[in-house]
Amino acid sequence: MLATQNGQERLGKELHALTEVAKTITSPLELPELLDAVMKKIIGVVEQADVGVAMLWDQPAGLFRPAATFGFDMDVLKDMGLRAGESITGKVYDEGRATLLPTPVEVAAAMADMRPYNRDIFNRSIHADVSPNSVLAAPIVVGEQKYGVLVLESLNDTIPFTQANLPFVQTLADLIALAIDRDRLETQADAVRESRRTEHLRAEIMATLSHELRMPLSAIKGYSSALLLDEVEWPIEKQKEFLTLIEDECDNMQVMLKDILDSSLIEVEQLALEKQPLRLPQFANEVATDAQRRTDNHRIIVDFPPDFPLVEVDPRWIKQVFRNIIENAIRYSPEGGLIVIRGEIRTIDVVISIADQGIGISPEDLIPIFEKYFRVRSATGYHIAGTGLGLPVARAIVEAHGGRIWVESKTGEGTTLYFSLPKSKTSLEDV
Ligand code: ATP
Ligand code: MG
Repeated sequence: MLATQNGQERLGKELHALTEVAKTITSPLELPELLDAVMKKIIGVVEQADVGVAMLWDQPAGLFRPAATFGFDMDVLKDMGLRAGESITGKVYDEGRATLLPTPVEVAAAMADMRPYNRDIFNRSIHADVSPNSVLAAPIVVGEQKYGVLVLESLNDTIPFTQANLPFVQTLADLIALAIDRDRLETQADAVRESRRTEHLRAEIMATLSHELRMPLSAIKGYSSALLLDEVEWPIEKQKEFLTLIEDECDNMQVMLKDILDSSLIEVEQLALEKQPLRLPQFANEVATDAQRRTDNHRIIVDFPPDFPLVEVDPRWIKQVFRNIIENAIRYSPEGGLIVIRGEIRTIDVVISIADQGIGISPEDLIPIFEKYFRVRSATGYHIAGTGLGLPVARAIVEAHGGRIWVESKTGEGTTLYFSLPKSKTSLEDV
């Protein structure tokens, strides 16, 4: 009579625990937390279980590793790695069915081939040098998919596990398998979504690029067709004007193509740096003079403090950074204004800033500004040609030098781009 009552009580508890576990599994928990929650449920239901572990097969490592535990010291147990066939886990995985080892002798026999390394971890993780009295283990399997083994162990010399515990433990293992399965499917779905997104982005980028390249190309085509018209005798100034426009558009295309090429080089990490100590103030002056030739309604000023330290950079790439930023400063301040290139000395590095008085960038557009192909959608509707590669290229170059790049801006007032570069170990007196 008492036995039946106990049996019913156990069944009631088991059913309750399984319902709880099933609920946990349908919750949006991440897999590790979910497995932990499941393990915690076991303690309350299977009284004999002092410790328990879900050992999962790690294919690349060729080992079973603990994924979730109770009772064990996880800090110690985490280093355990059981080979195929090793100890109870290895055997139950191979046999593929729930197993009861009811006596210390049977447990010891199944654990006899456990390698000393793992045996030591096992002992330390239960803070004792004992063998379990009895063990219950069930494969974590769903369909064809074998994930690992759930092992419950009784360490104290009390009541051993019985056959009656087997169905519950197997059902728990099945639920764990379902949870892992769901997690894997979600990960795969995420990967598929991500690759579709990339594909979509690539298509969009190609469309934008073709559009941007077509604009200068159609201008070139238009002016040259006009010049070649048999029926028109263009005055010499007109011819000159058209040829200049053609030349400008060719320059535009060249810049765009160079950007695209740079950005693909950066993508495949081919940015080979040949660093050397460089005097930035002189360098900035040269770049500024160069840029000033291309604009009449902007005034470019260079302002560096005296004794500016040398920086350790590849001048070709750093010139590209200056150019891309100054180019933007000119391009996005169509009304003209001042462009100030400033240098600041800090403890371990220097900061260059390039400030304009242009259209500015709104706060929400500041975040993606260094992303490839990002361009601010102009509220006023006028179109300024560009590919959205200047700043990502600049960032890749600055970061390859160990620096950082950032931006501050106010719509309608102007934009300042900053980038830092490490100081050279060579001091000014040495060169
Ligand atoms: P390109 O590849 O030819 O440089 P782009 O100028 O559009 O094209 P980026 O230099 O990367 O590309 O700049 C990205 C976007 O950031 C620009 O389209 C522009 O909207 C905004 N932007 C960049 N610099 C400034 C600036 N100084 N003032 C205002 N907006 C800017
Ligand atoms: Mg640009």
